Amino acid sequence: MKSKFIIDIQNVYKFFHNVVALKNVSLQIKPKEKVVIIGPSGSGKSTLLRTINRLEKIDKGKIIVDGFDITDPKCDINKIRMEVGMVFQNFNLFPHKTVLQNITMAPIKLKKIPLKEANNIAFSLLKKVGIEDKAHVYPAQLSGGQQQRVAIARALAMKPKVMLFDEPTSALDPEMIGEVLEVMINLAHEGMTMVVVTHEMGFAREVADRVVFMDEGEILEVGSPEHFFMNPEHPRTKKFLSQIL
Ligand code: ADP
Ligand code: MG
Repeated sequence: MKSKFIIDIQNVYKFFHNVVALKNVSLQIKPKEKVVIIGPSGSGKSTLLRTINRLEKIDKGKIIVDGFDITDPKCDINKIRMEVGMVFQNFNLFPHKTVLQNITMAPIKLKKIPLKEANNIAFSLLKKVGIEDKAHVYPAQLSGGQQQRVAIARALAMKPKVMLFDEPTSALDPEMIGEVLEVMINLAHEGMTMVVVTHEMGFAREVADRVVFMDEGEILEVGSPEHFFMNPEHPRTKKFLSQIL
């Protein structure tokens, strides 16, 4: 029977030498759900996101993505990576490729989409993220906010079922945060399944179905954004929120 979850993380552990980066983490995400992950630096947020497309291998537990057990060595991870888009804090664009080439490269190489069609898709995505006029420039010629919007367009070009965002606005100057969040909010309203590590609680309030608080590799509290604003329970959640709000 096919699971009703698009992502099913079961009792996952991840160690880096003697550091426990993830400690018995379980989290189930339904299609179209938007989950925001918060927590102090070093709490395992990035590691958790990276396990979902196996950029990090886990040491114990199980992760099922769209029905595929990605912890099974026989799993075709490239297929899963096509379904799971990822956006990083530092954009990670290819510096020697134009904006257009950044967006079309994976669809052409991995999905064998003809160049012309890939270009059409790229232009419509650039329009969606508000920078159609930048197709032929290089990343270094763009502001941080524009680069991050290209990174989002690039991930969307693969038509993923899930989008993972790892602190997508934390490397940006304050005046550019809004333009990136706006693109993410629009994506949320279109029904994309999203897992977002961010401390932008306004974003959480607007789109999150659930907020997950992590500390020291563990999920300590899960609830609605309102729950976290009104009555966070765990002392460490309270302490963390008092520092960021
Ligand atoms: P967060 O994203 O919440 O700041 P991370 O997932 O990056 O936390 O890190 C969780 C823990 O794992 C931290 O103690 C960090 O130092 C450690 N860690 C993460 N990646 C590595 C790595 N590649 N090698 C060694 N330790 C790592
Ligand atoms: Mg991180």
